[in-house]
Amino acid sequence: MGGYIDLHIHTTVSDGTLSPSEVVRHAKEKGLKAIAITDHDTVEGNREALEEGKKVGLDVLTGVEISVGCPYGTMHLLGYCIDIDSSFLKERLEFLQKVRSERNLKILDKLKGLGIGIDFSDVLQMAGGEQVGRPHFAKAMLKKGYANTNQDAFDRFLKKGAPAYVDRFRFEPQEAIGIILKCGGIPVLAHPFTLGDLKPKELEDFVVELISLGLKGIEVFYPEHTDRQIAGYRYLAEKHGILITGGSDFHGYGKPNVDIGIYNGNKDISLSVIETMKKMQEEGKRN
Ligand SMILES: [Zn+2]
Ligand SMILES: [Zn+2]
Repeated sequence: MGGYIDLHIHTTVSDGTLSPSEVVRHAKEKGLKAIAITDHDTVEGNREALEEGKKVGLDVLTGVEISVGCPYGTMHLLGYCIDIDSSFLKERLEFLQKVRSERNLKILDKLKGLGIGIDFSDVLQMAGGEQVGRPHFAKAMLKKGYANTNQDAFDRFLKKGAPAYVDRFRFEPQEAIGIILKCGGIPVLAHPFTLGDLKPKELEDFVVELISLGLKGIEVFYPEHTDRQIAGYRYLAEKHGILITGGSDFHGYGKPNVDIGIYNGNKDISLSVIETMKKMQEEGKRN
């Protein structure tokens, strides 16, 4: 069963397997009414998706997903309806790309120091045009016989604490939220379950802190959220008067169990959130 909208989708511009136009056509075929493209640290795919959306008659919102440093597990921030032509946004995202590629070279150096003879060209080949990351190092190591499985490569070399691990730069919540706001966008906390097993009070305090920085919504509906988590996140969003959003985190065929428009609780989210976001964006422009 397809949902009405899907506000969390990756394309080949980051780590998805469908191009922005293919994503739009797939969503249209599945009967969705609106989608948002939320590639990691880049808005490069938005223009193509917007144009294809116009062609096939599907509402496409601009978007991005940014990794954020926080005291808990993994924090991702979604930014909707952002101005993709903002030079400030471009500069900040290019900065992230730059630190990402510096990190990759450091990982390569460490691997070389450990006697792993792979070249960056091997890693690039594995990435096939995607943003290069640790999974591509793992694949290259596998191919050259330095690891038995991807997991083995991560366990022995690449995971946090392993000898070829390199810390990753992340914006702090204040800066990440500020960037989205400055580009006229709507910052939404992505898949809160990745923050880890927080006590309800801890989670609420954190969300309240994020709201004070400008957070405008929570991604309540997400394939990996349990009914209980959905109820908890929904309660928090309603209590503090922020948006309830949802998305599949569709990555194309990379995550075969996830299809566009499918996320836990898809009947509970409707087009109204899109209208609300558009209104917020218009109000933001006027102020
Ligand atoms: Zn994410
Ligand atoms: Zn995502």
